[in-house]
Amino acid sequence: MAKLYFYYSAMNAGKSTVLLQSAYNYREQGMQPLLFTAAIDDRFEQGKIASRIGINAQAETFTKQTNLFDIISKARSNTNLDCILLDEAQFLTEKQVYELSEVVDKLSIPVLAFGIRTDFKGQLFEGSKALLAWADKLIELKTVCHCGSKATMVIRIDEQGNPIREGEQIVIGGNSSYMSVCRKHFKEAVID
Ligand SMILES: [Zn+2]
Repeated sequence: MAKLYFYYSAMNAGKSTVLLQSAYNYREQGMQPLLFTAAIDDRFEQGKIASRIGINAQAETFTKQTNLFDIISKARSNTNLDCILLDEAQFLTEKQVYELSEVVDKLSIPVLAFGIRTDFKGQLFEGSKALLAWADKLIELKTVCHCGSKATMVIRIDEQGNPIREGEQIVIGGNSSYMSVCRKHFKEAVID
């Protein structure tokens, strides 16, 4: 039975590394994975999933307009397709998460989606919210806060290292960066 998996975490928990390792494992077994990442991620050249430990792979890109069910159906009619591995799943729309569930239920292809659970304000991303509701399996990838506790939240910091409390959910480019922290340190940084 194919399933829809959601691998979620804060930032820098090694999501892309796990995704690329999974792709490697599938290929090693003679199976064919299809990789996707969000076109919004311009840290690297478009259509590439890169891990911080230095491995990378080519990937198809999706925007909010992409019909994932159509693309995957078409790809499957041309070649064997054993698995979908999708990075930056937080940027999916609710409709696209439904499409991925159709890939599982109608095409019987397993889908492994990897994404960040909440934004720097502690709110669920649209894609993550839908995946938490619709996935068959939820798998948490863990990372640690500077205090040693499990980091479950993300804060956005400016160039001086001060937490940013307001702004758009997604900022492309810019000089801010992100840090994963535990809930207690999230509250201290963002709410208190
Ligand atoms: Zn902490």
